[in-house]
Amino acid sequence: MATSSVESTVQRRGLMMVISSPSGAGKSTIARLLLEDKEMDLALSISVTTRPRRASEIAGMHYHFISVREFERLRDSDALIEWAEVHGNFYGTLREAAENALAEGRDMLFDIDWQGADQLQEKMPADVVSIFILPPTMRELQQRLNRRAEDAADVIETRLHNARLEIQKWSKYDYIVINEDLNRSYAAVKAIVCAERLRRDRRPGLFDFVNTLLEENPAL
Ligand code: GDP
Ligand code: ADP
Ligand code: 5GP
Repeated sequence: MATSSVESTVQRRGLMMVISSPSGAGKSTIARLLLEDKEMDLALSISVTTRPRRASEIAGMHYHFISVREFERLRDSDALIEWAEVHGNFYGTLREAAENALAEGRDMLFDIDWQGADQLQEKMPADVVSIFILPPTMRELQQRLNRRAEDAADVIETRLHNARLEIQKWSKYDYIVINEDLNRSYAAVKAIVCAERLRRDRRPGLFDFVNTLLEENPAL
């Protein structure tokens, strides 16, 4: 949401918006809407992955596509703030990009699985806000994966099998959105981000703001 000019002068810590879901529930679609929405002013944490690039993906924009050897080098040199093996591939978040954004008070979106969400929550409990996206039905989840037509049949089968295990992690998250109607789901996610940005404990600058406010003494 566009912040008023006074609002934006109040110093605030960066927000780590974590969004997870079983594959096909609509997480990437909702993430894309958030990132395209200029008013939301969110940047994507671009993960490294060893999975092959999909036809619709752009290297350096959706992911940094790397080899297993490169992944191991990054992981072993502590360059990843979190990492996990998901559906048979490695995924990880680059530490430097995430830490720089937070230090500068910029909000970041992390499209990561529950294992990554767990690790970030453990390391930065005050900064993480997590959202889990559920499909309305398992049948619909299957249909979305087929409709997306980006993955081979065996990959879809693995993802559907893993979906049941992933869904069972729902209760670790702060917010749960059942993605039946995309517009409603997006509005809900947007509302969560807007509300979290207004939290008192995330805005140390409020002390100065309120002091200045009280010092003001307009002639009545
Ligand atoms: P999607 O399920 O269609 O979004 O498929 P992807 O191949 O894009 O993602 C596969 C899984 O890896 C998802 O569960 C993501 O949330 C997860 N994932 C992506 N990036 C990261 C990351 O940087 N860290 C972790 N831990 N998980 C990630
Ligand atoms: P994920 O990132 O969770 O794997 P995607 O965002 O790629 O899932 O969504 C999977 C497919 O479902 C895509 O083809 C997307 O266009 C479609 N989709 C997403 N949300 C909805 C919705 N609310 N209703 C119908 N189709 C949806
Ligand atoms: P996909 O292969 O469909 O792009 O992603 C599969 C899963 O991996 C998704 O649940 C996605 O959120 C997750 N994922 C993507 N990047 C990362 C990452 O850097 N770390 C972790 N833990 N999971 C990731």
